[in-house]
Amino acid sequence: MKIEWYPGHMAKAKRQIAEVLPKIDVVIEVLDARLPLSSANPMLEKLRGGKPCIKVLNKSDLADTGITSSWVAYFNQLQGVRAIPVDARNRSAVSKIPALCRRLVPRRGVPGKTLRAMVVGIPNVGKSTLINTLAGKKIARVGDKPAITTCHQQIDLRNGIILSDTPGLLWPHLEDQNAAQRLAVSGAIGENAYDQVEAALSALGWLKEDYPELLGKRYKLPEISGEPLTLLEEIGRRRGCMVSGGEVDHRRAAEILLNELRGGKIGRISLEHPPGKP
Ligand code: GDP
Repeated sequence: MKIEWYPGHMAKAKRQIAEVLPKIDVVIEVLDARLPLSSANPMLEKLRGGKPCIKVLNKSDLADTGITSSWVAYFNQLQGVRAIPVDARNRSAVSKIPALCRRLVPRRGVPGKTLRAMVVGIPNVGKSTLINTLAGKKIARVGDKPAITTCHQQIDLRNGIILSDTPGLLWPHLEDQNAAQRLAVSGAIGENAYDQVEAALSALGWLKEDYPELLGKRYKLPEISGEPLTLLEEIGRRRGCMVSGGEVDHRRAAEILLNELRGGKIGRISLEHPPGKP
């Protein structure tokens, strides 16, 4: 089943971001640490031109620590880009972002020179959570400042940084269906847009290659060398997902696997390596 999902009006979203970008000093792009390329929309790179950008590798609590470090090194090589792994719900990790903004644009974020930042990303990647944590108790809506279009509210972080409180909503880039499957597995795409069993089979294909021990341990699988469908059926049997006649209910087994993977129950799992890495 081809994955197609349009969470909103794409042309309008692009127009809104393009309108606000010239008034922004730093773009805070939220990515999913488990799949930093697939959770990006390449259109943003074109729109932002050379504007400094912080790549927030969010949900890093769910990702493989070593692979996340490789992603940080990969992004930090890029001109005008700094990457940081965070759990957007965790204040101590998020509190490092303002200093990173100031380092990228040293002439801003100092007394009398406000630094303006905007959070952008695809749905469910954690934009609102990040904005709330960044704002914390200091949240103060500044209202319609002329620097930003009237439809945007702003949050004064009271540290020289003003944040646009409306996240720039990007849509997932689904042209590459491998990337689309990774997005589906991560939970970034609406449930009706993909086949759960297909997504679970893709996930099992990756897990058996990259995390065989975690998979075996979680589901007490005697061996993980079988095909993804065999593994899904074994998981279904172990979790009592049966239909009459002794057949496994593939859909229920898929749901269990996907929910547990997304909830970090299987372990810390990354679904994508930086380019050039095996
Ligand atoms: P938005 O659509 O980009 O604004 O995403 P939300 O901020 O609404 O977050 C989507 C879901 O991801 C929510 O259930 C959040 O609680 C969860 N979430 C956000 N950040 C993190 C994180 O760093 N780690 C984990 N485990 N969950 C997160």
